[in-house]
Amino acid sequence: MEEAATPVDGEHVVGALSPSRAGDFRACPLQYRLRTIDRLPEQPSPAAVRGTVVHKLLQDLFDLPAAERTPDRAEGMVQTAWELVVDAEPELATMFGLNSADDGPDIADWLTSCREALRGYFDLEDPRRLEPAEREVYVEALLESRLLLRGFVDRIDIARDGSVRVVDYKTGRSPGVGYESKALFQLRFYALVLWRTRGVLPTVLQLIYLGDSQVISYRPDEHDLRATERLVEALWRAIDEARSTGEWLPNPGFACARCSFQHLCPAFGNVPPPLPETPGPVSTTGTSPVTSGAAQGTGSSG
Ligand code: SF4
Repeated sequence: MEEAATPVDGEHVVGALSPSRAGDFRACPLQYRLRTIDRLPEQPSPAAVRGTVVHKLLQDLFDLPAAERTPDRAEGMVQTAWELVVDAEPELATMFGLNSADDGPDIADWLTSCREALRGYFDLEDPRRLEPAEREVYVEALLESRLLLRGFVDRIDIARDGSVRVVDYKTGRSPGVGYESKALFQLRFYALVLWRTRGVLPTVLQLIYLGDSQVISYRPDEHDLRATERLVEALWRAIDEARSTGEWLPNPGFACARCSFQHLCPAFGNVPPPLPETPGPVSTTGTSPVTSGAAQGTGSSG
């Protein structure tokens, strides 16, 4: 995804972190290393690409006149959304064996699953009655420690009274009881960024789960967001420590099921590759201060 020139261009930064990469490190430092430091390629999964297509469609839906944002119209846009996504990344076609004799998931079934996810959305909201203030918006904030926080927010709604709702779509199912707080980390992260850059504390953080038509809403306060700031600072220190020592420990758990690196993981009896050469210091100038180098730890949040 293209990133615009940023307000922190030319500023000194010690590194950058997105919610996705922070989540990777929290789940498993070795997975973070292989994804962010080694930058090893990963096979796309049908579930992840469904997320990309459905997110795109939910963004494009709001370009239509309000009266046209109906379930039928949205479902009719699925094929086009997929074609645009695969045009941008033709290798995704291999997932369905479209470019080879390899078997893959049936694309018709998969497109149906995209339409089902959309039905899950319409069970929860009527987009004819909504006018988001911002969609798929890039946000960033430079903390006092010079750590850059950044990422893409799916949707920001601003009510007439000025209250702000930060929304993120999830194409999967909602988390089980007791895991809601962990799921909200990403939105707390964005709320912190918005608070630090715009001076406005978001009123509501909302996760919309299309897989089972559930919504998790949360009202953050300053105490929450200061705690989130301390957490991301601590995560960055831990990442920095791992970079210094070269110790990126595997942490087998839930993340393993969707991890692309089991064949390189000691927890599965395998051996990680040697660490790449130690990256140089993080760039501090230019239009994209930390878009290269292993220290960045950025990524999209979808
Ligand atoms: S397989 Fe599990 S323990 Fe190994 S790198 Fe992946 S997430 Fe970490």
